Amino acid sequence: AAALAALKQDNAQYLWHPMAHPQAMQKSKPDIIARGQGCWIWDVDGHKMLDGVGGLWAANLGHSNKPVRDAIVAQLDELPFYNVFRGTTHPRAIELSARLVKTMEPDDVAAVFFSNGGSDAVEGALKLARQYWKLKGQADRHKFIALRQGYHGVHFGGMSVNGNLNFRRAYEPLLPGCFHVDTPWLYRNPYTQDPEELGEICATLLEREIQFQGPDTVAAFIAEPIQGAGGVIVPPPNYWPRVREICDKYGVLLIADEVVTGFGRGGAMFGTRLWNVKADLWCLAKGISSGYVPLGATAIGNKVAEVFLNDPTGQAAVGHGYTYSAHPVAAAAALATLDQIEALDVPGNAARVGAHFQARVRPFVDKFSFVGDVRGMGLMLGIEMVADKATRTTLPRGNPIAAKVAQAAYRRGLMVRISGPNLILSPPLVITREEVDFMVDALEGAFSDVEATL
Ligand code: PMP
Repeated sequence: AAALAALKQDNAQYLWHPMAHPQAMQKSKPDIIARGQGCWIWDVDGHKMLDGVGGLWAANLGHSNKPVRDAIVAQLDELPFYNVFRGTTHPRAIELSARLVKTMEPDDVAAVFFSNGGSDAVEGALKLARQYWKLKGQADRHKFIALRQGYHGVHFGGMSVNGNLNFRRAYEPLLPGCFHVDTPWLYRNPYTQDPEELGEICATLLEREIQFQGPDTVAAFIAEPIQGAGGVIVPPPNYWPRVREICDKYGVLLIADEVVTGFGRGGAMFGTRLWNVKADLWCLAKGISSGYVPLGATAIGNKVAEVFLNDPTGQAAVGHGYTYSAHPVAAAAALATLDQIEALDVPGNAARVGAHFQARVRPFVDKFSFVGDVRGMGLMLGIEMVADKATRTTLPRGNPIAAKVAQAAYRRGLMVRISGPNLILSPPLVITREEVDFMVDALEGAFSDVEATL
């Protein structure tokens, strides 16, 4: 008890939180999450909450998966660490790459390049794309096109293709040669309220940007199959197939950032499968090891892999990688995670329970004055809060009702994430229908509490 009390002392100045103003954190005091079991978490006061955040889209198997835990412990006993660098590897790295290639056989994946997390996986994909074109003798193909509102991590490459100013402005100038086109975002776009027409228009905007830049200068287009951090923006079904056609037409590589959507979140094993397309490179993290340990991976499609494997120039060594790439404990956790995803049919659960979840939250648009839009797929859901529903006027910067909503949810036993105007829910993918009902009831109660104060 004394140790827990000490944790809660005013020592917040020592720990700076990502994406948070240090002064604001010192005033607001973060929730200190001390324990987790299944879909539930407890803070240091013993307050129990349903984990509606899933540890930031990562804890897909929940917080106490025994087989994953056992695999981690067994690996610590066998070989806690060895590096994967030229000349050395270890059994779990070999097994995991073979396993991922098998899992992604329908996606024409040939090989896997490991790293430590999502931002690393994105850098790997961007660098492999540029190197691919150099190996093919087309060094001019160096530009990247991405989506506004997209999120691709925090390193300089990913940050440069990010489509949100908040993650970019303080660190400019960024990588040259990165350009952005409109997201097919039905709720906020100047073009149309017809989903199919919007998909076509936004695909055409990508085509026009490729033409404007000069196709022989564009290396790749990168996007999330469903945008996560941008507020769970689900594209119309015709968008990705049209994007694939356009990339093929101009020879541009397609990079799918599956850091959030990979391993079941949207109701299919990968987000690209939701849209019936294959990418050329996939960025994987989070759900790959279910959050138990950090791991990232860039999956490499046949077309890209062949150029590296058949390179006549001697330049195909990948100048990317980390001391902890394919860390044995992470690889062991990922192997056990993949077993569990299959054994528990995690994507199927996300689709089935997710459909119930989406159907229950969607009516909040009509029920609450400050809910402008509810959108999502599977077990990812975004609620956009607005100042005026009729005009879709955005809330002032800083979202004045965010704290009220988060506190009301906390009181009712639900951990939520609020990012700008959006409340984002992404519970563990093993969540049951009853737990979904608890989550939705708690949210509805919290929103009613807030509505009463407006
Ligand atoms: N890409 C996407 C789509 C993400 O959502 C995130 C993290 N939320 C990242 C990349 C970066 O991953 P990480 O935080 O593990 O570096």
